[in-house]
Amino acid sequence: MACIEKIYSVSALVGDGRCNANCGFCAGKYLRPQAKPNPNYEKNLEAAIKLSARYGGWSLSLTSSGEPTCDPASLTRALDIYKKCADQGAYFPNVNLFTNGILLGDEEFCKQYLPGWKERGLTNVALSIHHPDEKMQAEAYGLQSYPQFEKIVANVREQELGVRATLLLRKDGIDDSSSYGSAIEDLVEKGIDNITSWPIGNPDGTRNEFTPSRLGLFGIRRWLHKNAKLCHGHEWGGGVYDYKGNILRITDYVTKHDPKKDFVRQLVVFQDGTVAYSWIKEGALCMK
Ligand code: SF4
Repeated sequence: MACIEKIYSVSALVGDGRCNANCGFCAGKYLRPQAKPNPNYEKNLEAAIKLSARYGGWSLSLTSSGEPTCDPASLTRALDIYKKCADQGAYFPNVNLFTNGILLGDEEFCKQYLPGWKERGLTNVALSIHHPDEKMQAEAYGLQSYPQFEKIVANVREQELGVRATLLLRKDGIDDSSSYGSAIEDLVEKGIDNITSWPIGNPDGTRNEFTPSRLGLFGIRRWLHKNAKLCHGHEWGGGVYDYKGNILRITDYVTKHDPKKDFVRQLVVFQDGTVAYSWIKEGALCMK
């Protein structure tokens, strides 16, 4: 049995589970019943941040069973906890807000909230993108329209935060090497130079009707291999590439915890107060 040597990151769920989109496949829905106040949540979020920082962790991801920006007060409270940890030395170079980006198209919203979140330690906004074309993006989110990506990027950068993208690999969307290659070019042109991709799947890591074909995913990895330079691999699979000076990352949606390995990809802080060694809680409990 291996001892844990490294805990790379913390992912924390925040907010009341509300969402301003209506996706055909909602990855957060199954966690929504937990999205209510819990006395252990804040204590365990603090403990998870400190534990990961002590074990060489480098990032905190704030996400939700809905859309985190729809409950800005919860996001502020989570960042208050992070700031307290950071002031005591448990600091992460990357603190990322995962968002569908809809509210960030609104300049007033950005002016109202982003400076306070930045002051508490937020470093980047990570936009979840189904397609670089706003019409297709709106369709995937079940909306009439989606803000211009350039507008979102400008609003976020105006508040001196970084912009990243999570380019979601989805059947009939970005699902093979040619759609991936052209999506990357489009996003880079729209000012996004740090792009992570993973295939959509079930919360337990299995494939579902929205997961691209194995051949399509293989083609995307081969495209990266041919067109970009590997900077480093991830122990859990995938890696980070340099593509004409832009950062491209490919990984899996979730990694099942393996107690025989000496690393943890991420501690996940659930809203029922559980901290687990992976998104799949079973066999991966860390704190209650
Ligand atoms: S944006 Fe996220 S939480 Fe909202 S409906 Fe889509 S998948 Fe679900």
